[in-house]
Amino acid sequence: MFCEVLDFIFPPSCPVCNASVSEQGTLCSDCWAKFNWISDPKCCVCGYPFPANLDLGSHPLCPVCASGKNELDWLRAACVYDEFSRNIMLPFKHAGQIRYNKIMSRAMIMALREVEGWRFEVGGNGQQPPTSYFLPPALIIPVPLAYRRLWKRGYNQAALLSRPISRHLNLPIDVGSVRRKYRPDMGHKNAKQRAENIRGVFEVVRPDAIKGKTILLVDDVMTTGATFAELRRVLKRAGAKAVYGVVFCRVVRAI
Ligand SMILES: [Zn+2]
Ligand SMILES: [Zn+2]
Repeated sequence: MFCEVLDFIFPPSCPVCNASVSEQGTLCSDCWAKFNWISDPKCCVCGYPFPANLDLGSHPLCPVCASGKNELDWLRAACVYDEFSRNIMLPFKHAGQIRYNKIMSRAMIMALREVEGWRFEVGGNGQQPPTSYFLPPALIIPVPLAYRRLWKRGYNQAALLSRPISRHLNLPIDVGSVRRKYRPDMGHKNAKQRAENIRGVFEVVRPDAIKGKTILLVDDVMTTGATFAELRRVLKRAGAKAVYGVVFCRVVRAI
């Protein structure tokens, strides 16, 4: 009833173009079609999208994952980082446009949909035993923000995205076990510089909460993967069993 009254006063509209939609916080079909959503075929480990007409079997691997150099043990992204996703992601991250949270987290839940039930195998081809099993995550950790940034921005965009995902998957969110030191912005640095800049930035302050756990990291965007790789390094050192990730958008480079 209350929602119906609100919908009467503020009719639901697309957060991007203001066209009328059936439910608050959803995209209109025109805007939905403008995103470069990632679907199959894609790398079964990191979700890297392959050209649509490629048949690579049931467990396709990208060259990075095939060589074991993947940043995380498993990753999914809802869409490709491009002009359209950037126009949602950046205002959400920096300009307080938290009204985008619903559509971004929904898209991320959809990207995780294929593993609901969490019985996905990584590797193997159906005949041979899989090389490893996909363990269900026990914990969600939003990629932490340094206190100084949190103070300035007022919110951690990764923590906002984590809430609907946590509710949907029925997993707890841990925002207290990993801390991030302040470092100047990495915006215009190359992959190597970003990796060097991020080294040592995270600290596991409650190793007991991490030990033996399979962890799902949540962030808005993956660019070079340096942040995820560094987080995995410290979480594994603290005894995490596996470290996965889900992002709204990711940079897709030719590999
Ligand atoms: Zn729209
Ligand atoms: Zn891959």
